[in-house]
Amino acid sequence: MAARKIIKERIPTPERPPEERIKDFKEVNKGYTFELAIKEAERCLKCPYNYAPCIKGCPVHIDIPGFISKLVEYQDDPDKAVREALSVIWRCNTLPATTGRVCPQEDQCEMNCVMGKVGDKINIGKLERFVADYAREHGIDEELLSDIIPTIEKKEQSVAIVGAGPAGLTAAGELAKQGYNVTIFEALHEAGGVLMYGIPEFRLPKDIVEKEISKLKKLGVDIRTDHIVGRTITVDELIREYDAVFIGSGAGTPRLVNVPGVNLNGIYTANEFLTRVNLMKAYKFPEYDTPIYVGKKVIVIGAGNTAMDAARSARRFGVDVTVTYRRGEEYVSARKEEVKHAKEEGIKFEFFLNPVEFIGDEKGKVKAVKFEKMRFSDELDSRGKRKIEGTGEYTTLPADTVIIAIGKSPNRLIINTSNFNVEHGRIIVDENMMTSVDGVFAGGDAIRGEATVILAMGDGRKAAKAIDEYLKSKKK
Ligand code: FAD
Ligand code: SF4
Ligand code: SF4
Repeated sequence: MAARKIIKERIPTPERPPEERIKDFKEVNKGYTFELAIKEAERCLKCPYNYAPCIKGCPVHIDIPGFISKLVEYQDDPDKAVREALSVIWRCNTLPATTGRVCPQEDQCEMNCVMGKVGDKINIGKLERFVADYAREHGIDEELLSDIIPTIEKKEQSVAIVGAGPAGLTAAGELAKQGYNVTIFEALHEAGGVLMYGIPEFRLPKDIVEKEISKLKKLGVDIRTDHIVGRTITVDELIREYDAVFIGSGAGTPRLVNVPGVNLNGIYTANEFLTRVNLMKAYKFPEYDTPIYVGKKVIVIGAGNTAMDAARSARRFGVDVTVTYRRGEEYVSARKEEVKHAKEEGIKFEFFLNPVEFIGDEKGKVKAVKFEKMRFSDELDSRGKRKIEGTGEYTTLPADTVIIAIGKSPNRLIINTSNFNVEHGRIIVDENMMTSVDGVFAGGDAIRGEATVILAMGDGRKAAKAIDEYLKSKKK
């Protein structure tokens, strides 16, 4: 038998050129065509299930060689290839169009891909996205769903879910498939959580999130938007009315920089800025009601995914954008692809700058940010990161808009109106995702602080399994 030829280079996915894409909010990466996906799938070595490091790196343990093999095996019949591949993915992940786009693959499934020893790692995220997109565009996901719906055995028990982000949506979907009556209570006027109000359209088109949510509705999930748990209804009331409760209320409270001038006009939290842009479609003002002021010089403080999304959104208003970060480039936590895209789009980066004052004009509007220059010290912090220290030298950068993106904490309303045990604002759960209150489970950013979509989904799945077991034991 002839030796298999190893193709070392990754098959690239087409992208829109930077000069074109900074003029609008349409998606940057166009994804694989079927032909390109097969070429990339053929590079995969199809490592055995029990060994494959990619499976171990995926927080929900998708059978990655399994789904990639289906694409290759049935490549003469694209619909069948995708149907088979999607069935494998759906066993562990019901939002592959989303995770294929936003997972930090370089730190997860792709991190230890064995192809990395001889060439480029397999582009698992883009293959997953391809399967999900092709399935959606050809109605294959609907077909698979309609195969599942008649097999569901309806149960009498009901579950309330708080929050319609990835954690809540996943828990809802899994429980609905088990036959439970599921109701989601969501504070905002649209479901989706950060997928809808945080991550911009050019990274994750909103019609994809809407489609995922419509599938849940087909499974019978009742989604009640504009319901703030803790105000419209309390957790205690939910406990009385439902057989179990899942809290997936996320981490939507922005942290602020506690320095003089932080209340000046023109300073936004990334949360407010992105919500106005994404959820309220401020970039389409006056077609949509919500306006947004974006000055000519924008400074973004922070270097995570939120900072990158804020910077790239601001850039699409045709303005000059600089990202500033108090550490060095090697500690930037945003996905590598987003940093690359941001740089291609002309966003500048300034490292080792820590804001110490926002300077305003006579009308109370920000006009500059004063920073202390930082440097690495020799000590490591508790997470093994090199500590930084001030140099005593300062610099001032002009800015008429500042966006603060230095992290978020779990939403406090639910915690303040319930009796859960919490630590540093995060709800504490046991190994079965149950909180200190019997029958109330939690997951996602509400228990972890700001984390990732796939970790939130993994929690939602795990909690749904635990809720199923809890309710079965209660019935006995
Ligand atoms: P959320 O997505 O925050 O959803 C919680 C939901 O609960 C929200 O809809 C909220 O309105 C609702 N809620 C809150 N309080 C109440 C209440 N009292 N009553 C009713 N409803 C309530 N992760 C990645 O993996 N990749 C990325 O590229 C990435 N980019 C990001 C970009 C931005 C701008 C942000 C902010 C985050 C990003 N993340 C990314 C992180 C990721 O989005 C989160 O980890 C994930 O969404 C957490 O899911 P969740 O369901 O726990 O919470
Ligand atoms: Fe990779 Fe995320 Fe898909 Fe898992 S869910 S295989 S980590 S892209
Ligand atoms: Fe394919 Fe890489 Fe996973 Fe091996 S580790 S199965 S080569 S994706």
